[in-house]
Amino acid sequence: MTDNGLDTSPRAVLSRVFGFPDFRGLQEQAVGEVMAGRDCLVLMPTGGGKSICYQVPALSRPGTGLVVSPLIALMDDQVAALRQVGVNAGALHSELEPEDAARVRSDLMAGRLDVLYVSPERLLSPGMLDRLSRLPLSVIAIDEAHCISAWGHEFRPEYRALASLPEHFPGVPRIALTATADPRTQADILDALAMPDATVLRASFHRPNLDIAVRPKTSETRQLLDVLGRHPGEAAIVYCGSRNKTERVARALRERDWPALPFHAGLPPIEKRAALARFRSGEPVVIVATIAFGMGIDRPDVRAVVHLDMPSSPEGYYQQIGRAGRDGEKSETVLLYGGDDIARARHWLEQSSAPEAQQRIMSARLEAMVTLTETTGCRTQALLSCFGETLAGPCGHCDNCRNPVASFDGTVEAQKVLSAIYRIGQKFGAVHVASVLRGKDSEMATRHGHDRLGVFGVGKDRPELFWRGVIRQLIARGAIRVTGDYNALALNQEVARPILRGEQKLMLREDATDELKAGRGRTA
Ligand code: ADP
Ligand code: ZN
Repeated sequence: MTDNGLDTSPRAVLSRVFGFPDFRGLQEQAVGEVMAGRDCLVLMPTGGGKSICYQVPALSRPGTGLVVSPLIALMDDQVAALRQVGVNAGALHSELEPEDAARVRSDLMAGRLDVLYVSPERLLSPGMLDRLSRLPLSVIAIDEAHCISAWGHEFRPEYRALASLPEHFPGVPRIALTATADPRTQADILDALAMPDATVLRASFHRPNLDIAVRPKTSETRQLLDVLGRHPGEAAIVYCGSRNKTERVARALRERDWPALPFHAGLPPIEKRAALARFRSGEPVVIVATIAFGMGIDRPDVRAVVHLDMPSSPEGYYQQIGRAGRDGEKSETVLLYGGDDIARARHWLEQSSAPEAQQRIMSARLEAMVTLTETTGCRTQALLSCFGETLAGPCGHCDNCRNPVASFDGTVEAQKVLSAIYRIGQKFGAVHVASVLRGKDSEMATRHGHDRLGVFGVGKDRPELFWRGVIRQLIARGAIRVTGDYNALALNQEVARPILRGEQKLMLREDATDELKAGRGRTA
């Protein structure tokens, strides 16, 4: 095919416009599907090169390529990048100056645009569909397609309306793209976009350059500083479970001279923009954020991603750690978690007003996440298996592969913990339970007569952190519930009883924290 004498075949466009000698991975197949006028769904990890899959056909096929995208910053970046290589690209979204929007619209109607980025709201706004349906379109791309799934972690209700696209644009091939890999979301996308016959192209989600570590929280700030200390002068992202916490942690880091900035949805827009600008500028910066800091974050050289609280699903976790090392260089990810995290997440879920079916899925995801944190096997294998992908052997770049985790028969220790909780009336938190087991004299123990109980001091031979670890693992397994505002520990009879009766042997993981290693798990 030629246009102004130029070769517009996909390969020619790839090298002339984008300067790449070859397609990468599944790009060629994806482009081929669209060129043949077929719908397809592309699942590729972040950094996999999804944009080329629709940008090349948009330029190779006659007409304008329409790209639906959920984020304004993302659209503006892509448009700027395309213009830089001489492509006539434009965007229509709510933050455009009226005269800029008018210019994009007149370019569009005059057939001068190669690629138009549009938010779903704009696309479905009155008049827009009519206007577009009078134009030849080369392809419709639905970026971040997982936003259509109500079960997904980034649901955008506006995306649901994209189901009507084929009615307005019959015969225009559609390509949906996402870095969310779980089979449930995949099925949801195909269903919601009404494209049951789409070809599904799925890349491997294995990211060999990411070091994965998951550690029990012992001293959050110190553990965080340890990680950051390995990355001076580099960019890092620290994820926190609440807005307050992002500000608190960022402050604590700044006091120690780290260039840290908070980021969450509740910040004034000007602060958010400033944080994003600094992050994008390439200077060393530590962004301390809620999961609001996510989509469209495409700095390639993020060297560390640290979670100070447990994510609520393996999907979310994978997306967040995936923001490290997009340039393919070695990068580090560390998740710190505790029994409180697990209990709090379960509690929120129980309180949530979501429909029952959704709660069930959210709960299954949360439990998959808990299992991932406590596993003694390869983390990468466990994570990928959540996405229906099998890795032939252990990855070699996760903490469990590097330092195989010992497990031990913890039945007796578990019994001690469970009976202590029971004896002190199921009204006290983990700190006090551990202290009773250790037989530590305290005002609280004396006041409640806990120092006269048989369980007082039965765990003297082990350090506090050991007992905290057993408690955490018993929470993870559902033998202990955490109740009320005081994080009081109580027994979950159904799971706890067989353990207490010795009917069930319990293998526990030997936590590999530095403190415990130093003390060999015994009181030093
Ligand atoms: P994604 O949207 O999947 O996260 P991008 O489309 O942003 O990924 O691409 C990630 C990086 O890979 C970009 O820097 C892009 O320039 C580069 N890239 C994409 N396709 C190719 C290719 N065929 N050859 C070389 N580099 C590529
Ligand atoms: Zn591994």
